[in-house]
Amino acid sequence: MKNQRIETTCVQGGYTPGNGEPRQIPIVQSTTFKYSTSEDMGKLFDLEASGYFYSRLQNPTCDTVAAKICALEGGSAAMLLSSGQAANFFAIFNIANCGDHVVCSTSIYGGTFNLFAVTMKKMGISFTFIDPDCTEEELNAAFQENTKAVFGETVANPALTVLDIEKFAKAAHAHGVPLIIDNTFATPVNCRPFEFGADIVTHSTTKYMDGHGVAVGGCIVDSGNFDWMAHKEKFPGLCTPDASYHGITYAEKFGQGGAYITKATAQLMRDFGSTQSPQSAFYLNLGLESLHVRMERHCLNAQKVAEYLEQNDKIAWVNYPGLTSNKYYALAQKQMPKGTCGVVSFGVKGGRKAAEKFMKELKVIAIETHVADARSCCLHPASATHRQMSEEELIAAGVPGDLVRLSCGIENYQDLIDDIEQALSSL
Ligand SMILES: *Cc1c(COP(=O)(O)O)cnc(C)c1O
Repeated sequence: MKNQRIETTCVQGGYTPGNGEPRQIPIVQSTTFKYSTSEDMGKLFDLEASGYFYSRLQNPTCDTVAAKICALEGGSAAMLLSSGQAANFFAIFNIANCGDHVVCSTSIYGGTFNLFAVTMKKMGISFTFIDPDCTEEELNAAFQENTKAVFGETVANPALTVLDIEKFAKAAHAHGVPLIIDNTFATPVNCRPFEFGADIVTHSTTKYMDGHGVAVGGCIVDSGNFDWMAHKEKFPGLCTPDASYHGITYAEKFGQGGAYITKATAQLMRDFGSTQSPQSAFYLNLGLESLHVRMERHCLNAQKVAEYLEQNDKIAWVNYPGLTSNKYYALAQKQMPKGTCGVVSFGVKGGRKAAEKFMKELKVIAIETHVADARSCCLHPASATHRQMSEEELIAAGVPGDLVRLSCGIENYQDLIDDIEQALSSL
């Protein structure tokens, strides 16, 4: 159905059963697929025909769920991967080789920062990290001759900065490269980055899309809007023949809408094998069926909790883009009028000691290294993920000792507020 609303796509997208077929998506738990002749099989290997032959490359259950996420984002093609880390690695490595360069927002997930600044650097790909609040001039100055992509997060984990997608897309396009957006925290229910000019979207489906803490996974969606052939010299992998696929030129054979994902599947998935299992894809689809209902509640709960914290005199500061006092409020309203995410960060007066004591007293909210789950949880980065850092290093990293990251679940918000209140009363 054309112009179908996103709630309906969450429930029914990607799969239309025929007469007498299962209403729920089938789990195709098979590594391999049978063919009658070697010629049939050969055509698949040559990418002359489409079909399944080995689940390291493609699996029908995974493709069904990828098609749903593709529809949610309004893209042209999509693929599932084993994790969000794999998705971000593939998204860049599909178009950047040894000797290439990427412009990236400083405000990104720590795991992605390590992947880019340490591991991909070893592979010869360099990154320039730039403050997302930079001016257009500063942003344009970050580009080099060998720049192949720009990367940022819609709402950054854990800093909760909101990226001006139009500003970043404009600079990327002026330099003939695509903008890749990690849309994990907002989800397509709250933000569709392609509508603001992004070209490729990635997800850690482990977070809100799954939403129940069940399965690790990732996804890449291509908008089909980036004209690779217009920048042929920058993207030889897409625009010149691939010797490992009998001289196929992806951008010619699969067009602007199919080239990027076909190459990532045929080359990178073939060689790295970072596949999602069909069982995990099935769980992911269950999560997607209620994504629109859950996001609304996550955002309501976070809003109520943030407003409560802001007027509490035991709290030093609150960071949530839904607060009118927040630096990103106007930008968040423009890009995410329905809400941003369920994560709120705040400082407890009394610093690190007070934050630790406060968290120990919580009963409904659990201490976990997770976010974006139906169950509320929190983390004190200074004593967990960032515990190797000194006080000075913590401040430089934007993670002061008093910072508590709270991921609001979908419980009743008054119970979350009551829990916070009783824990604060112990201080
Ligand atoms: C968690 C996360 C990732 C990494 O995803 P995994 O599924 O844990 O590999 C990437 N980006 C963002 C924004 C995340 O929150």
